[in-house]
Amino acid sequence: MSEIPDWLNSMAEIVGSKGFTSASDDMAPWLTDWRGRYTGKALALISPASTEEVSAIAKIANAHAIALVPQGGNSGMVGGATPDKTGQSILLSLRRMNKIRDIDAGGQLTVCDAGLILENLHEALNDHGQRFPLTLGGKGSATIGGLVSTNAGGTQVLRHGAMRSLVAGLEAVLPDGSIYNGLSPLKKDNRGYDLKQLLIGGEGTLGIVTAATLKTVPALIDRCVAWAGVASPQAAYALFKFLNAREGQSLEGFEIVPKTCLDAVLEHIPDTRPPLNDSASWNVLIEFVRDQELATDPRELVEKLLAEALEQGLIQDAAIASNESQAEAFWKIRDSISEAERASGPALQHDISVPVARMADFITTAGTQIEEAYTGTKVAAFGHMGDGNVHFHVKAPTEIKAGRDGSQWMERSSQTISRMVHDLVVAEGGSISAEHGIGQTKRDELERLSGDARILVLRAIKSAIDPKNIMNPGKLVPLASGTSAS
Ligand SMILES: Cc1cc2nc3c(=O)[nH]c(=O)nc-3n(C[C@H](O)[C@H](O)[C@H](O)COP(=O)(O)OP(=O)(O)OC[C@H]3O[C@@H](n4cnc5c(N)ncnc54)[C@H](O)[C@@H]3O)c2cc1C
Repeated sequence: MSEIPDWLNSMAEIVGSKGFTSASDDMAPWLTDWRGRYTGKALALISPASTEEVSAIAKIANAHAIALVPQGGNSGMVGGATPDKTGQSILLSLRRMNKIRDIDAGGQLTVCDAGLILENLHEALNDHGQRFPLTLGGKGSATIGGLVSTNAGGTQVLRHGAMRSLVAGLEAVLPDGSIYNGLSPLKKDNRGYDLKQLLIGGEGTLGIVTAATLKTVPALIDRCVAWAGVASPQAAYALFKFLNAREGQSLEGFEIVPKTCLDAVLEHIPDTRPPLNDSASWNVLIEFVRDQELATDPRELVEKLLAEALEQGLIQDAAIASNESQAEAFWKIRDSISEAERASGPALQHDISVPVARMADFITTAGTQIEEAYTGTKVAAFGHMGDGNVHFHVKAPTEIKAGRDGSQWMERSSQTISRMVHDLVVAEGGSISAEHGIGQTKRDELERLSGDARILVLRAIKSAIDPKNIMNPGKLVPLASGTSAS
């Protein structure tokens, strides 16, 4: 049995027995990403309980050039929190750091530890008449540190922006162990480069986020959720423009759902029902809200606007949720699409954005081009249309079933079909990662499709802040030629 090195013993002493394990059974659940696409190895799983402990661990890691892989809820989509297979990294879990440090309801600011789970934040703020206006399907696992580090989006970006707009301050430990205390919520601060913004979306490659000051908004008084059938993505966009021009300030959600995705949900997800009597080729889920800053009754608003939209031929039919449980049922359909799509067969998934005004045409033209180029494939594009961001799935031909065949098809096709999708996105001035990040999944594509300037800056920032490349090596930043991932 190999001896535990002194530096690892020192790390174990810092966090104590509650925060240290090197037992493979204990580590196993955290060494595979939740989608099961990557499995890595680690020397130990270390879970500090304070910023000072994180700092002490980072100092030792830096002195011995040991890789640290930060992990929150392990709900990320791009393998960013999974260590490589060398078994030489430390998996650094923030889950024990899960306290709310302060809720300032009047100032609409909340300070919390990085390991706090999003859903727990939502519940705590509700008791104070406040709301953190970011939510996503993984809210029961995703942590504030992970959300910050991936600049996560979700279904309320339309009105409130992604994490970058919602973080007022950050505390973090840098690779040399120094503590950056930037929690103070300054509205104006012109001291040059903004480390906070580098850490947001930094995917753990520049440091470990230990706490955040988050902007909150008043809790909702009520909301109205509606489901409308439309003829095409172009009609969905026309409806979006109409609603936005009329009452954009209270429009909080606008999601597009093709019939194929709705059918997959109805087939695979228990307790789901079609919202409309006659199914439409395309659907949109709309949410209007009222809080203390907005006076209009959302239900009256939706009834009036959808009646006008029907009259103008923008929609074919609509159903307005008559109560909260029906509203939840509509959202359940939207939130279950990924699960339903997975159950219906292998598919390549792309989280892409193009300028909002071009998304409708992108969905139809890129969809047709892919289906023509790769016989038997079917494109399903759904999601945050109001943000110009859809999840663009390319489903395998029906004869390819889940399992070994499906995995092999996905492996092969990521080199061809995914490249074509990404090329089409770039040609539209879009992004190959709208909200999930780069991680290990898209690092090579980022390099292939980025201009020299972007890659130069990414590498320069990385090597300036983390010269020993100990922070989450192999993720996000394309390797300089001639170097290896760890
Ligand atoms: C069902 C479902 C639906 C989802 N829907 C959406 C969606 O609509 N929009 C969206 O944006 N995402 C979505 N996600 C993805 C996921 O929830 C987000 O990426 C989330 O931000 C990850 O948080 P986490 O705590 O699980 O991070 P992890 O998965 O643990 O880590 C993600 C990345 O952040 C780094 N990291 C984690 N914590 C820290 C830290 N404290 N300091 C530094 N780096 C850190 C990791 O190293 C890794 O690179 C969804 C996930 C699921 C399961």
